[in-house]
Parts: sequence; structure tokens; C-alpha cells
Amino acid sequence: MTNEMKALEKTHPREGLWRVTAPVPEIRPDEVLIKINKTGICGTDIHIWNWDDWAAHTVPVPMITGHEFAGEIVELGRNVQDLDIGQRCSGEGHLIGKTSRQSRAGKFHLDPGTRGIGVNEQGAFAEYLALPAFNVVPLPDTISDDIGAILDPLGNAVHTALSFDLLGEDVLITGAGPIGIMAAAVARHAGARHVVITDVNPDRLALAAEVADVRPVNVADESLKDVQAELKLKQGFDVGLEMSGNQQALDQMVENLVMGGRIALLGIPPGKSPVDWSRIVFKAITIKGVYGREIFETWYKMIAMLENGLDVSRVITHRYHVDEFEAGFAAMKSGKSGKVVLDWTGG
Ligand code: ZN
Repeated sequence: MTNEMKALEKTHPREGLWRVTAPVPEIRPDEVLIKINKTGICGTDIHIWNWDDWAAHTVPVPMITGHEFAGEIVELGRNVQDLDIGQRCSGEGHLIGKTSRQSRAGKFHLDPGTRGIGVNEQGAFAEYLALPAFNVVPLPDTISDDIGAILDPLGNAVHTALSFDLLGEDVLITGAGPIGIMAAAVARHAGARHVVITDVNPDRLALAAEVADVRPVNVADESLKDVQAELKLKQGFDVGLEMSGNQQALDQMVENLVMGGRIALLGIPPGKSPVDWSRIVFKAITIKGVYGREIFETWYKMIAMLENGLDVSRVITHRYHVDEFEAGFAAMKSGKSGKVVLDWTGG
């Protein structure tokens, strides 16, 4: 093995990512070295590419970005047991501490000291990634590298969708980005009766209908009240999954929920946004904020569902070799794509 590798790096504090040659990371005793096969491009990576305020305040430069990956273990730190060279894997990109009250209670995803690979620490847009063995999630043979590379966002969708019991419930999802679309597929798989997904982007609504058995609604042309009548909902939707961060979408969700409805929020509004709290109080609505994936219960559930027929493969709409990464980022920025996957093998 050489000690140099190809990587995509935020080299300069301005728009863009740069292809660089970087040293292969040296692993610590509790880490493994993963040879990356496929990576997914995330909305977070677009923020970093664009170098918006969030990125400029969060990401130190230089930084190898990327956190959605599948690959195989090629080296084990000396303290690592229970993993083998050659094991195919994905992994949790949130690096957590073990001393907080939450971690010691086993709620690892709530550790306040969480650091993200590709954001705060060297990431996965590289031929090799050093990762704590604790974070490794082995992949069964039935899960391809393409799907392995999008388990991180699928995990966001699963964590959000499984926040509340969906069996027999009518579910409203606002925001038909890739995570909203995958959440729709998960909600159907989990036994929801009707799943309605809203957006104002016709390409994304068309993709939603292709990936999952859902009723897409373009709220620019159609009212949710009419859709409720069509589906014969007596009072409204039971559960809302907010995936857009859009204030109007949240308003429409509250408006169209039953008394005592439940909302899981994953979408991130830009800055502070006005909320009609009195309506939420009088409707006795429960709201839950969702962060990341439950470590590792979400991973367990999503792999089990993938093995039991959950199919999100069509959410991947574009594949590029990493040498064409600029085309991959352009597809993401077009607003017309689903997930974009980069191939790090060969070339
Ligand atoms: Zn992501």
C-alpha cells in the first residue's frame, strides 16, 4: 500500500472543493483503516462547497470533507477485536465521547461533545478513512456499496420516521428531498395507511412517486385540504415528518394535523422563524427534534428493513467516478437530483 491517497478537500476558505493528494491517515489503537469504495454527497457537503456562513463558522480549513461512505477494512488498530480485515462496512460519522451522562446512559446520539467526520474531523471523501472501531457498521452481503454509501441519510429518514408509531396512521411529510423521499418509503414499510409528501419542486415529487407508494402534492397547485377529502381523512394527518426547514411547510403541517397529532422535525429552518405556538398548544401537538441517527439502534433497524424488502435504491439518480466530482456536485446543486454517489474504485 502506498502512503498517499486521492481526496477531496476544502483547501481554501471559498467556494469549491479541490482534488488533492494527502497522506493516508495513521490509525490509533482503537481505530480501523477503511478503503473507501463509494461515497454519497450530502446537503451538508453542498453547504461546505458553497462556503456559506454555517460552513465558514464550523469547518476548519484544510479539511477532507464527506461523511457518507461504504468500503472495506484494510487495517486494524492493535486494540481492535471483533472486526476483520476485508470486512465490508459503512459507519456512523458522528464521533462521540464516552463520559457524558447521555453516553453513559447508552444514548450515544445525544452526547453533547459529538464531532462529525468531514465537518470537524478528516472525512470520507478520500481513498482511505481512519474511523474508531466503535463506529464501524458491518454490511451484510445483501447490501450493495451504493446503498451502504447512503445509509447515513437513510438513517436520518429512519430515525425521523420511527420517532412515532406509524402502523395504520396517516402520515404527512413536508419536503421531498432525498431524506423526505426515503422517509416516505420507510413510513410505508412501517405500515402507515396513507403517506402524503409535499414540495414545490415537480422533479422531486416525481422522484418521490417513483421511489415510494405515496401521494405527491405540489402545494403550489393543490391544497392539502382537498387531498384530505380525496383520501377521506376525517380530521387530518396523525403524524407529520418535517424535512424541509420551510416555515410555510411547518404551518401547513400544523394546520392539517389531527388534535393530539405528533411531529418529528428534521428540517433545519434558516435562522429563527416565527411559529404559531398557540395553535400547537390548543391542538395538543407533540413535537420532537431529531438529530442524526440513534447509535446504533437506527442502524440495526434500517439494515433489518433493507433485508426485509425496504427498497430505496431508486433514490440514487446519479453516479460519477470521483474524477468527475464536479459533475456530481453540479447534479446536487441543480435541485433535480436524488442522491448522488461517487465511485472511488479504479480510475
Ligand atoms: Zn449526510
